[in-house]
Amino acid sequence: MATNNAHKLSEIRQILDGRYTILSLEDIGCKIEIPETGDTLEENARQKAGFIKEHFGYDCFADDTGLEVEALNGEPGVRTARFAGEDCNPENNMALLLQRLEGKQNRKARFRTVIAIVQGDKMNTVEGIVNGEIAKEKASDGQGFGYDPVFIPEGHSVTFAQMPSQDKNAISHRGRAVAKLVEFLDSAK
Ligand code: IMP
Repeated sequence: MATNNAHKLSEIRQILDGRYTILSLEDIGCKIEIPETGDTLEENARQKAGFIKEHFGYDCFADDTGLEVEALNGEPGVRTARFAGEDCNPENNMALLLQRLEGKQNRKARFRTVIAIVQGDKMNTVEGIVNGEIAKEKASDGQGFGYDPVFIPEGHSVTFAQMPSQDKNAISHRGRAVAKLVEFLDSAK
């Protein structure tokens, strides 16, 4: 998997439950920052997976995730990680998001994950979406990462950061995208 994000790796390994063994960038000795310059999640996922195939020769997959907020016309979208600026952290990002939604009735949002998979000379993509809404304030029991303390998935009354990881994985954007990834890999066997 073209990432060194420990949270993502552990989520994906947990979801795969031993069915596939995942190597990280560290595991293959890749210490370079992979370029991520696309205008869409699809472009970024394809760029990251293609880069690893080209420079390291491994079949691989890469994910890119965005939070798309209806009242902000789909923002932050592809800019989710750097919403509050290039050197921002999740706290800055969530603070800006809550500020931009102040007084807005419509708090609908969705997380979308795109996974690009490279096998030989073929590249495919799968997508996972979870609908929900942005909470009025942060709420966390210390679970999850990123924007989890402000995202309440549809049909639930707590944020992702208040749910046990198995419950989040069962309905999350990444969980759904990984389920499609497994389906795809199984069908290609
Ligand atoms: P990327 O896929 O690493 O580019 O993630 C983009 C942004 O979305 C980062 O700010 C992440 O913290 C955030 N993000 C990705 N996945 C999740 C998630 O499952 N929960 C909350 N935030 C996430």
